[in-house]
Amino acid sequence: MAAPPSSVLAFDGGRVLAADPTEAERVEGLLARLQPELLGLLPDTSFEDLDVWVQDTPSLYMNATEASTDAEGLWSPTHQRIMLSRHADHIERTLAHELTHAALGESWGLLPGSMEEGLADHVSGSLCESGASRLRAGRLSSACLATGGVSLQVDVLPRALSCPAGAPRAGWSACIRLKGEADGTDPMDVFRLAAGLSSTKLESGAKRGFYGLAYLAVARIVDRGGYEGLQELCLRAKQQGLSRVPSSWILDAAGLDAAAASWRSAAAASMGEAELIELVRMYPDFVSDAVHGYLTSTGARIDDPAQLEVEISLREGSATVLLSQIPDLEATIAMDLKRPQPDGVQVASAHR
Ligand SMILES: [Zn+2]
Repeated sequence: MAAPPSSVLAFDGGRVLAADPTEAERVEGLLARLQPELLGLLPDTSFEDLDVWVQDTPSLYMNATEASTDAEGLWSPTHQRIMLSRHADHIERTLAHELTHAALGESWGLLPGSMEEGLADHVSGSLCESGASRLRAGRLSSACLATGGVSLQVDVLPRALSCPAGAPRAGWSACIRLKGEADGTDPMDVFRLAAGLSSTKLESGAKRGFYGLAYLAVARIVDRGGYEGLQELCLRAKQQGLSRVPSSWILDAAGLDAAAASWRSAAAASMGEAELIELVRMYPDFVSDAVHGYLTSTGARIDDPAQLEVEISLREGSATVLLSQIPDLEATIAMDLKRPQPDGVQVASAHR
């Protein structure tokens, strides 16, 4: 067993153990904001005194099978301890996620399979607005990737100003389907498998898929009836003497059915402009491939993507964005175009 972090900051409600007092105070400040907000947001929640350990890699050091793991954070109910990675992508959001596990009262225990993970993610998005669209994009695209992939269209047109007056503008379109390792997942397994438990052995792609599917179901139920609507399912199941909320109730409340296609199209439809921008940032290659495809197929001599109108849209769903809305990617593609291209290279052929 390794020693706990050395700097200890005790306060009303628990302790933070971190590498130094500055790090401990930072986490204590986050707890002071997140804990009361979480209690106000979710019914049947409370906190006992808890410890938060800030570590390089979150680990319990003993009997790891009883802890639930989210890679960047861990919650051990036995120890009333959250273990947090100081290298987490968004430490506040990871803390909010683990605090949700810590706060949930007995009634929430009737959520089946991975649904509690979807709830913890959804709550962390509500409490931490910065980075919420990144979280949504990640979870919703994982849900699509587990159930057939994300279908996108890229349309490239020269801007009217960069063409001779009256000349026809030749455009180029590419249809792209992003596929994931977890493709072919039965979405109903989200109700059978607890992806957050370290005792559930899953490949990371499959795990992301279940987090995505659980997030999607929770988001659709909360959109319709708030967190109370989700809790009502738990209370009703308890009243009827059931040990778990039946999956059919969750499907009904979320407006989904058992078929993978219904989950995929619902996930795509839930993505708005902000999420699509994040998705393009996650997989930028297909956009630069499309620009190259346009240039190779039309023979146009353009070295600045600002002379092009590049529109990216979700084929299942309504979100559409322009490359000019993502200036960092536009700049990367511009740099790429200025590099001399060998003649006759078919950059985008794989994506037509
Ligand atoms: Zn979790």
